[in-house]
Amino acid sequence: MYILGIESSCDETAASVAVDGRDIRSNVVSSQIEEHKLYGGVVPEIASRRHCENVLGVVRQALRDAEVTLEQIDAIAVTYAPGLIGALLVGVSFAKGLAMATGKPLVPVHHISGHIAANYIAHPSLEPPYLCLVASGGHSHIIEVRSHTEFRVIGRTRDDAAGECFDKCARVLGFPYPGGVHIDRAAREGNPEGYALPRPTVAGSAYDMSFSGLKTAVINLAHNARQKGESLRSADLAASVQHRIAGMLTEKTMAAARDLGYRAIAAAGGVCANTGVRQALTEACDKAGYTLYMPPLSLCGDNGAMIACQGYFNYLAGMRGGPELNAIATLSIEDIGERLK
Ligand code: ATP
Ligand code: MG
Ligand code: FE
Repeated sequence: MYILGIESSCDETAASVAVDGRDIRSNVVSSQIEEHKLYGGVVPEIASRRHCENVLGVVRQALRDAEVTLEQIDAIAVTYAPGLIGALLVGVSFAKGLAMATGKPLVPVHHISGHIAANYIAHPSLEPPYLCLVASGGHSHIIEVRSHTEFRVIGRTRDDAAGECFDKCARVLGFPYPGGVHIDRAAREGNPEGYALPRPTVAGSAYDMSFSGLKTAVINLAHNARQKGESLRSADLAASVQHRIAGMLTEKTMAAARDLGYRAIAAAGGVCANTGVRQALTEACDKAGYTLYMPPLSLCGDNGAMIACQGYFNYLAGMRGGPELNAIATLSIEDIGERLK
């Protein structure tokens, strides 16, 4: 079954054609990063405009690369939540128009379930149930994947997402947006114990996380150094931040896996492209005897393939969007089914 997946929740306009949720025939990603970089973060209005300009070309390219015609597509999957509302609306409106004009089924996909589904592409043997760490620009969750379309959030960040923390710390170090990848690069030359950073704890849940304290500590540290006329050891600070974030994500994920009895662990989202996070998870899972699944770096960030893949499973579960389908800026991954009835 050929699924066309369309993604526009943030600053990537992306489309892909995938067969049966695993076999990727094309994956076109048009990133707006160069433009948002000028402002130090994503400017929602600019994102919406660029999606409007790019979506048709990106979808056409995805069909061309896959060497299929629109007639051969069996269903159209689109990210409808969560994300920037104006950005989401572009993809949803485009997909709705395409579905209505062609008479093909429209399948709504929750963006975070898409990130998780990137693992099915990379690992055909992965089947629910398993535990998944999702760490991205806007989310940090530990999720019980009960089936391909049912999810329970076991733990979450109480404040900033891990990606946000990477990006804000990167800004302090003078790196451009999005800074996660620059921290990753700088950290290779640094000492992970080079700076003593706090390890924020959270009361009330064993699996919840907090990253805002770490961010503030790094901002204060840089501020104090500047006031004293001292220079920052950039590589050491990058390595220390990365070490802390990777440690927190790994520790909470392992605790949840142990307590809930999961031996299959997956990771997903842009932050799971991070070398330190991948390494910490790999070492912890090796030690515990758990099987770890991670998408290749190319499928960690936003892309259409993950939406086409999850779209296949949503299609099988009977999820459909009609003309009334709307974009939703904030929607828990636990409530997907509820809002589509
Ligand atoms: P969400 O999925 O929560 O809506 P998003 O789509 O913007 O947010 P992603 O595209 O999944 O998030 O991930 C982007 C985030 O991943 C950014 O914060 C970016 O800095 C971070 N990131 C990407 N590569 C790395 C890396 N190598 N190390 C650390 N962080 C990284
Ligand atoms: Mg992005
Ligand atoms: Fe994302």
